[in-house]
Amino acid sequence: MSYELIQNNQYNIGHICTKQQCEAGRGKKTAMRWFSPRLERSDYTFSDLEGSSNRFANLLKGLGIAKGEVLFTFLPKSTEQIVAFLGSLKVECITGTLFSNFGEDSLLDRLGDSAARLVVTRKSLYRKIERIRDQLPALRTIILTDVAADLSADVLSWPHLMADASETFAVPVTTADTPSVLHYTSGSTGKPKGVLHRHGSVLQQSHTASEVLGLGEDDLFWCTADQGWVTGTSYGIIGPWSLGVTQLHYSGGYDAGHWLDLLQRERVTVWYTAPTALRMLMREEQELYQGLDLNHLKQIFSVGEPLNPEVIIWSRSCLDKEIYDTWFQTETGAIMIANRPGVPIRPGSMGTALPGIEPGILADDGTELPAGSQGNLCLKAGWDSMFITYLNNDSAYRSKFRDGWYYTGDMAWQDRDGYYWFLGRSDDVINTSGHLVSPFEVESALLELPEIAESGVIGVPDELLFEKVIAFVHIDAGIEFTAELELKIRLHIANRLSSVAIPQEVLQLERLPKNKSGKIMRRVLKARYLGLDAGDISTLEE
Ligand code: AMP
Repeated sequence: MSYELIQNNQYNIGHICTKQQCEAGRGKKTAMRWFSPRLERSDYTFSDLEGSSNRFANLLKGLGIAKGEVLFTFLPKSTEQIVAFLGSLKVECITGTLFSNFGEDSLLDRLGDSAARLVVTRKSLYRKIERIRDQLPALRTIILTDVAADLSADVLSWPHLMADASETFAVPVTTADTPSVLHYTSGSTGKPKGVLHRHGSVLQQSHTASEVLGLGEDDLFWCTADQGWVTGTSYGIIGPWSLGVTQLHYSGGYDAGHWLDLLQRERVTVWYTAPTALRMLMREEQELYQGLDLNHLKQIFSVGEPLNPEVIIWSRSCLDKEIYDTWFQTETGAIMIANRPGVPIRPGSMGTALPGIEPGILADDGTELPAGSQGNLCLKAGWDSMFITYLNNDSAYRSKFRDGWYYTGDMAWQDRDGYYWFLGRSDDVINTSGHLVSPFEVESALLELPEIAESGVIGVPDELLFEKVIAFVHIDAGIEFTAELELKIRLHIANRLSSVAIPQEVLQLERLPKNKSGKIMRRVLKARYLGLDAGDISTLEE
């Protein structure tokens, strides 16, 4: 596919994914084949996307939203989410996507920290925002996608606004360094951090969509990730459309029958999904696979968590397909390390570095370690889709870089042939089915319950989810730890944070292990849960 990605110094992602595709003669080509959870289909051309994202850009202008201001969508997978994403980038706004499962604390942290001006959501989800709105002074406008008329002067109707907005919009010539997409990521301490990207990231997203995923003019690509996370925006929107590739979007959740039906019937050629989903497919009744014709499917890629060799072996025998694991994170914006066609797969390894990407395995003191040694997975700073800051937290951003290396927070080792092998996180962040969960955030939310005096949260290995969340709680004297209380705890976490963060087990402890400064020792909790040696416990005070 030979066409210049950057034309006339125009780096604007919204422009590149829509207008530029129309100018390249793809106006009538299907950009998006949309399926509802019940598999009703609607097709949208690049010209449709261009028109509707222009309308959204115009309506933002009409509302006085300017370059550099922050807005979010808070929606389940929906066409409006995608249109708002592209349209706001056209105006050079900073645009974020909030996972539709988020509870009030998760919303408040993100909308508050970013001083978001506008949120696009739907009626049922708006209730969550209404409850915290008085704590969000910067939030001026809410747009609801499913009301026909405005509800008030600042709670407006999407259909109404869009109908009134013009379909033409002159996108400003946007520099590579102009801020673009904002995704919050959870750490092991403190509040989630706003990972800010720039329009120039499109170079890496486009390049990897073509060189790793192998996307070309005739492909039908399906990325199952939710747009609330980086994979859903980098590869469910930007990368493929920057190349003019048709994407399938299915707005339902995991459903083996529907998924396989779509893969077969729609003749998907490249599929990007997650290890947990693949493990779920592996557990389905084998009859589901009888007679399945996936001849047109060239390859499957996965991301987000380690891909265990069993899944690769299952896919070879059951689907007759290779699965190529890829590695990246919110901060890297695009794939950095990957297995890909033409490079033999070593099952269990994340693959090799992409051209132009220089990973290193470093000791804690910054020494570069030789092949075979375990250490911090680092990347030489300066790749095109490198995040530009943690919003309002430049010191945290700077702390991630040392001597020109970016510290990813992952531990890994490299073999003599340049393959990288994931070992785990260097911090306590939990990766459950590809979602990062902060133990700190869950612990803090647990302490909001009057019954709970202390809490400690860890992640432990899980066969399906990679890791699962386990909560230890110390209950106030005189209170009984009943099934009702456990249910209350789970609901509370879902309401405050998200369903992803719900502890799979809640265990009561008389006393939580703490160090001399009173900090809960998660390492000790984990070792005890797993029946392992807790290592150095000289600072333990129980
Ligand atoms: P996020 O920033 O939420 O996208 O999460 C990124 C983190 O997910 C990485 O730092 C890794 O810990 C993990 N991760 C992503 N891809 C892989 C992979 N292929 N293998 C192992 N872990 C992965």
